[in-house]
Amino acid sequence: MQDYVQELMAQVKAKNPAEPEFHQAVQEVVESLALVLDRHPEYRSAKIIERIIEPERVIMFRVPWMDDKGEVQINRGFRIEMNSALGPYKGGLRFHPSVNLGILKFLAFEQVFKNSLTTLPMGGGKGGSDFDPKGKSDNEVMRFCQNFMSELQRHIGPNTDVPAGDIGVGAREIGFMFGMYKKLRNEFTGVLTGKGLNWGGSLIRPEATGYGSVYFAQEMLGSRGESLEGKVCLVSGSGNVAQYTTEKLLELGAKVVTLSDSAGYIYDEEGIDRDKLAFVMDLKNVRRGRIKEYVEKYPNAVYTPTDPTADYNPLWNHKADCAFPSATQNEINGKDAQNLVTNGVYVVSEGANMPTTLDGVNIFLENRILYGPGKAANAGGVAVSGLEMSQNSMRLSWSREEVDQRLHNIMKNIHSNCVQTAERFGVPGNYVAGANIAGFLKVADAMIDQGLV
Ligand code: NDP
Repeated sequence: MQDYVQELMAQVKAKNPAEPEFHQAVQEVVESLALVLDRHPEYRSAKIIERIIEPERVIMFRVPWMDDKGEVQINRGFRIEMNSALGPYKGGLRFHPSVNLGILKFLAFEQVFKNSLTTLPMGGGKGGSDFDPKGKSDNEVMRFCQNFMSELQRHIGPNTDVPAGDIGVGAREIGFMFGMYKKLRNEFTGVLTGKGLNWGGSLIRPEATGYGSVYFAQEMLGSRGESLEGKVCLVSGSGNVAQYTTEKLLELGAKVVTLSDSAGYIYDEEGIDRDKLAFVMDLKNVRRGRIKEYVEKYPNAVYTPTDPTADYNPLWNHKADCAFPSATQNEINGKDAQNLVTNGVYVVSEGANMPTTLDGVNIFLENRILYGPGKAANAGGVAVSGLEMSQNSMRLSWSREEVDQRLHNIMKNIHSNCVQTAERFGVPGNYVAGANIAGFLKVADAMIDQGLV
């Protein structure tokens, strides 16, 4: 089986050159699936893995727009429609200067398994642009979003492909894109999730990824008879996922001591309490400022700027019990993973997508810590997007308590599915294998049922 994995990876690299993040995501999944192929030769003969790594459709397009100075700007737009075996394509849009085809393919690939784990009827997709919303005026963001949607609208629809937010795409951007879709198509439908509450959005959607990642950590700790009460937690990022991760951790009695953005991180030994979190939410969501300003307001905290020449991230080098990486891919490398373990961290719940390199993942697995990979731990976001789709179809809205209860149950079910699947395939306690295999089996069986399409 090792030969098969090596051969497949050689083909993936040859066919998809210059896409290291995609190679990394495929390798992690394919290594887990070796355990399945041994028992199920039918998946191998139907070439399910070879099919699942090939997007069903890739859309790339030009997005011209005019900035406030009257200068023409050109960005590139993408939508990867990866797999529709379980339902319409579903997955976020990312606006960040680092966005390229390989990054979106890795995200779309992960999304297929994640959406399968939620048990909701959603296929996998991802999209976005190399547009950078940072430093742009609201009008510039609106013009960009409108131009982006003027092309994307041809390819999406409530029964075809339902995008949502991701890095750089929050309520403001979803609003501008929804408005343009509605105007061009002359229809008011649930074509995007993460919508405003007054116009089809779901309660708890903004909170869902962060809350879900904390619920997943709670379940992992529960499997050892422990809780989050009193635990010291490292959180990275300061965007949507980081904010609501912090909020839920505070509610459950944990202490959060770090937050970050791409320029640096803050360490607050006294803990980030509710007032301090409210300051961060206003700073990031309203004033669109930098996390550095935290130490101007709370001088007992320490700010450390990002050092691009360093081979490790000092945020992960503090004494703590739990870590919630909630910024971006590959933010924990092998050295960071070792630092975390050495500093006593034994719970890692990934709010971000693929925040840990393959080296780092192996260190967590060797040390047998409670490690919840992103496709399981951060599935709460897309799960509540799925619930938003259901509410839109029924043309009604559930209460905050009802959505939160459903989210909590979904996270509990994902956790037990991972645990049981890992046990069934002889790797107990390995949430990576559990998530990859459980996510894969449903998609693979649906693909076989639906024939060669
Ligand atoms: P936001 O844009 O709200 O926040 C992103 C945060 O991460 C910001 O603090 C940002 O800092 C930081 N960040 C982004 N890129 C980098 C980078 N290259 N290096 C260091 N820091 C960086 O995004 P979200 O909170 O929505 O997303 C965070 C992660 O969670 C992503 O991996 C996303 O894919 C994942 N995720 C999000 C879901 C959602 O529902 N929103 C669902 C599932 C996963 P700065 O402002 O300086 O760029």
